Amino acid sequence: MTQFSELSAVGRETAALVLFSGGQDSTTCLGWALERFGRVETVGINYGQRHQAELECRARVREKIGAVKPEWAERLGDDHMLALPVLGEIADCALTDSRRIEFESSGLPNTFVPGRNLLFFTLAAAIAYRRGARVLVGGMCETDFSGYPDCRDNTLKSLQVSLSLGLDAPMVIETPLMRLTKAETWELARRIGGDAFVQLVRDETHTCYMGDHSHFHTWGFGCGKCPACELRERGWNEWKEHARFE
Ligand code: ZN
Repeated sequence: MTQFSELSAVGRETAALVLFSGGQDSTTCLGWALERFGRVETVGINYGQRHQAELECRARVREKIGAVKPEWAERLGDDHMLALPVLGEIADCALTDSRRIEFESSGLPNTFVPGRNLLFFTLAAAIAYRRGARVLVGGMCETDFSGYPDCRDNTLKSLQVSLSLGLDAPMVIETPLMRLTKAETWELARRIGGDAFVQLVRDETHTCYMGDHSHFHTWGFGCGKCPACELRERGWNEWKEHARFE
C-alpha cells in the first residue's frame, strides 16, 4: 500500500466543493473532504450519460453519509446539479448512446468523453467562486485502467493554474485518489470512516457502465461484466485479502 496523505484536522476554515457523481471514487472523495474541511458542498453534472443510476445514488449517499460521523453531517453543505446535455451532443461515445463499450485504436475506451474533466472542473470552479470555496475535489486517478488524459495529474495541475489566473483567486484542485489502486481506494475509505463508510460506499454507490443497479454482488451493484464492474470487483477482492471488513 502506498502512503496516504495526512488525515489530521487541517483546513477547518476552508470550504471545498466535491465533484460528486454518486460513484465509488467520488463518494470516497466526499468522505475525504468531510474529514478535513469545515464546509463541503457537492456538484453533480447530468450530461445524458447512460448510467443514470449513478446520479440517483447521489441523493442516497448524501442522505446517509452524515451517519458515518456526526461531524460529517455538520460539515455537509448544499448540493448543486447542473444539466449539461450539450456534452452528449459533442461527444461521440458509448456512455451517451447505445453502442457497445470497445477500445479504440488510441487505446482509450469509446466511453471517453473528450476533455470532460476540464469542463467539469471549470464549471465547478465557477460555482466554488460564488460559494466562497477555494478547494475543488475530484476522484480522478492515474492508475485507472482507462488512461484518460484529462485525469492525469499534470493536466489537473495545469488546470489549477489556469483557473486561479482566470478567476483571479487561488483555486486548489485536490485529487486524493490520483496515485491509488482500486484496492487502496477501498482502504482509504476504511481509514477515513471505518467499516460504516466502506459499507456505505459498497451498498449505495454505482460504477457500472451499463447502468445495472439490480444485481448485488459482494462488491456492490452492477452488471458484473463491463470494464467498470470488473475493475471494481478486482479492487474489492484484492483489498479484502488484506482487510478485516466483513
Ligand atoms: Zn457493469
